[in-house]
Amino acid sequence: MANVVTRFAPSPTGYLHLGHAHAALFAERAARIAGGLFLLRIEDIDHTRCRPEFEAAILEDLAWLGIEWDGPVRRQSDHFDDYRTGLASLNAMGLIYPCFCTRSDIAAAGNAPHGPDGALYPGICRALDAATRAARISRGAPYALRLDMSAAILRAGTLFWRDLDAGEIPARPYLFGDVVLARKDTPTSYHLSVTLDDDIQGITLVTRGEDLRAATHVHRLLQALLGLETPSYRFHRLMTDATGRRLAKRNRAETLRTLRESGTTSADVRQLAGFD
Ligand code: GLU
Repeated sequence: MANVVTRFAPSPTGYLHLGHAHAALFAERAARIAGGLFLLRIEDIDHTRCRPEFEAAILEDLAWLGIEWDGPVRRQSDHFDDYRTGLASLNAMGLIYPCFCTRSDIAAAGNAPHGPDGALYPGICRALDAATRAARISRGAPYALRLDMSAAILRAGTLFWRDLDAGEIPARPYLFGDVVLARKDTPTSYHLSVTLDDDIQGITLVTRGEDLRAATHVHRLLQALLGLETPSYRFHRLMTDATGRRLAKRNRAETLRTLRESGTTSADVRQLAGFD
């Protein structure tokens, strides 16, 4: 196995833009300079937003950019069993609970402190007894699965992760409160699937945008609970437009396809993305 394995993990919810080109080139370069492997993963757990044509476009755009990934592409929607197994382990440790709350139930609970992903869950369903949970489930009430954060931290103890630029970072997963690990509409979540996949794919260096830096606190906790390897981390800048606004998939004008159609070459795009 190569000693450095990185990955690019886009979600097929739209066309790639320069920010994605930067992320892909950043991960590819980190692998290539170390003589390592660069993998591609399609993060398509959200069936309401992901579309096969966007997945096809990702492969096409990367090929056009001259980015070559190693080995087969891993598509998350083909691996729900892996996520179920992870949830079963956490359940056996008594660390997850069903949450029946709707957004309005949570809002009605009052002003909760905010974490990196928004308001922290006020813990309403953590307090439900087993009989109430079972009755609601058998009635067919939709539910998510949340991590009991305090219990999880108590079990895992003090944790650190390694940022190759900033050094040893103390993990502070409590910032997120009782995070959702399986959503009502899909039997996993970003945090769970990304953490398991990085381990399953043997990723040794996770590179991701600054916007996802804080998520690493939760991922480090899940690694400890599930006995997974801990990769190192590096975070890259987020590309912005001329007015300083972050690039967004919803703005078609900024996609790699539009640049290509308007005559921009792949060499130009690599340069615009900060790599030549
Ligand atoms: N799928 C995530 C995204 O499109 C990136 C995965 C990760 O690096 O955590 O932003």
